[in-house]
Amino acid sequence: DARTTGLEVVGLSASYGPVTALDGVDVSAEPGRITAVLGANGAGKTTLLRTISGLVRPTAGKVLLGGRDVTRAPAEMIARAGVAHVPEGRGVITELTVEENLRLGALLGSSRKRTRQQLDDIYTMFPPLAERRGRHAHTLSGGERQMLVIGRALLSGPDVLLLDEPSLGLAPRIVAQIFGLLRELVDDTAGERLSVLLVEQNARSALSIADVGVVLNLGRVVAVDSAAALAADDGLRHAYLGF
Ligand code: ATP
Repeated sequence: DARTTGLEVVGLSASYGPVTALDGVDVSAEPGRITAVLGANGAGKTTLLRTISGLVRPTAGKVLLGGRDVTRAPAEMIARAGVAHVPEGRGVITELTVEENLRLGALLGSSRKRTRQQLDDIYTMFPPLAERRGRHAHTLSGGERQMLVIGRALLSGPDVLLLDEPSLGLAPRIVAQIFGLLRELVDDTAGERLSVLLVEQNARSALSIADVGVVLNLGRVVAVDSAAALAADDGLRHAYLGF
């Protein structure tokens, strides 16, 4: 049952001192689906991801993982419970190789055999990483670095993948490639249990591969619908989505 295996955020609020960044947000991300979280700068998208993964403490509301309440649990415990967070910025360790960076994503205590299998899966999914596995990460392009941070997050075998603005600063062709790979990942049988929450300012591209979209404005949800319905809503697109 999707409702007991995915991610559910209920009435979530969070503040930075006097600034309310999230105000009673309801969002769910179901397995086998990509849920896009859209909205302008400052809408609260990054704060939503940081609150889900335990980096920001909510002032109200709940975060449920597979029906289990993880609200206010430490970030490390939420990661162990199956949430992988890829923050904005594509942080990789440039002095390490692609494969060494990927291995950093494996959970401590994961067997060598399992890690090898997961690395092989990542290389199948992202062929450019396979070709460059022995190169230092500083030699990678922006798109390859984005693949690397997503691959690293997948090494922990997450149930929920949180992606913060993966398209930022990438050429449209590269964005299309990465989003296409993300769609394949979720449609893959192995990805059937994966729930993806994709935060994007590039609403047009995100909606082209997402199943569902949630629009935030000033910390509140202003629309939730199928990606196709949101993309077809001229008023909403002009008011909140910038395309
Ligand atoms: P962006 O695309 O710029 O990341 P966003 O939709 O992700 O935008 P948030 O970064 O979550 O929005 O910001 C929501 C609100 O919280 C904004 O008003 C922002 O100025 C404020 N804010 C975010 N981080 C902090 C912080 N560390 N301290 C104070 N205010 C913050």
